[in-house]
Amino acid sequence: MIEHAPPRGRPARTTRRAFVLAFATLLAAGSMVCVTAATGAAASETGRHGIAAADDCSGGYVALTFDDGPTGQTSALLSALQRNGLRATMFNTGQNAQNNPSLVNAQKNAGMWIANHSWSHPHLTQLPQSQIMSELQRTQQALQQITGTAPRLFRPPYGETNSTVRAVEQQLGLTEVLWDVDSQDWNGASTAQIVQRAGSLQNGQVILMHDGYSTTIAAVPQIAANLKSRNLCAGMISPATGRAVAPTGGGGDGGDGGDGGGGGDDPPPQGGSCTAQISQGQQWNDRFNLSVSVSGTNDWVVTVTVQNPQEIIATWNGSPAWDSGGNVMTMRPNGSGNAFGFTIMHHGNWNWPSVSCRAA
Ligand code: ZN
Repeated sequence: MIEHAPPRGRPARTTRRAFVLAFATLLAAGSMVCVTAATGAAASETGRHGIAAADDCSGGYVALTFDDGPTGQTSALLSALQRNGLRATMFNTGQNAQNNPSLVNAQKNAGMWIANHSWSHPHLTQLPQSQIMSELQRTQQALQQITGTAPRLFRPPYGETNSTVRAVEQQLGLTEVLWDVDSQDWNGASTAQIVQRAGSLQNGQVILMHDGYSTTIAAVPQIAANLKSRNLCAGMISPATGRAVAPTGGGGDGGDGGDGGGGGDDPPPQGGSCTAQISQGQQWNDRFNLSVSVSGTNDWVVTVTVQNPQEIIATWNGSPAWDSGGNVMTMRPNGSGNAFGFTIMHHGNWNWPSVSCRAA
C-alpha cells in the first residue's frame, strides 16, 4: 500500500568503519554486557544452555522501526516482538493513532518508542508549509494526548523531505529519521527476504519495516536470532543523532550511547521547565500571523528569530524586546497568560521563525 523511496545521501560504508571502531573499543574495554528491559525470550533460551541470562550487546545497537500503524495487525506484531525480547520504534500516523488509541498504549506498554509519521501520510513536499505544520502538529498533539509524551522523532512519508519539511520539524523539536536498510516489506518482499535484509544491519543503523504485513511479523523471530548471533541489540533512536543507541530510561539511565553532547543538530532547547509551541494564524498576501503557546512555567522568556528579509510588524499578549538587528525578538509575559502572537511581513520568505523557551 505504501511505496517508500530510498533515503538519500547516507552511505552505508561509513558506518562499517564506525562499527569496527566501536567493536575495537569494546574489546579494549574488556567484556561489556548489557541487559535490555525485555529479556524474557533470551533468558529462557540461554537458560536451556546454562549460560548467563543476559543479552550481549558488544556488537552495538540497531533500531527496528515499524511505520503506518497502528493497524489491525499491531497486537500480533507486539506479541512477536515481546516474545523475542525486541523493542522497536513505531512511526504512527496521527489518523490511525486517533482511531486506535488503545493500540498506541499497547505499543507503549510493550516497551516500544512512539514516533510521528504525519497525520494522513501525504506527499509532504507537495504541500504548503502551513499544511505540513498541520500534519505534524496534529499528530504530536494526538500522540501526546494518548501517551502523555510528545514524540521527538519524525519520519516523513515515503522518505520525502526538503528544507520546508525540515523547518517545520525544527519548530516542533522533531528529529528526522530516515533509514539505512529498507526491508521492502511494503513492496511484496518475502519473509526470507526481510530477514536477509535485516541481516545487513550494522551498529547504529535503522531498518524500515511496516505495521500491517504478516510477512513482517513472521520475520521477527529470525531477525531476533540473527541480531543475537552478531551480539547486536535492538536499541532506541537517539533524538540527538537519529542513530540507534542503547535504550535509556526505565532503570540504569547510563547515558544515551555516548553521542558526545549531540553537536549542533539538537532540536530547539526545550529546557526541563518550559516548552514553546508555535502555530499558524491568519494569513494574507504580504503577511501572516503566528501564535506561540508556552507550557511548563508562568514566568518565561521566549526567543523568536525571524529570517531575512522578514519583519515582525505587530505583537500581542506579550512584552517584546528586540536585538539591534531586528531579527531576534525576546518576549516576556505581560499579564495576558501563556500565549502570545505576532505578525510577520514575509517579503517573499514564508519560513517560520525558530522559537525557543527558557524559564525566567
Ligand atoms: Zn509510511
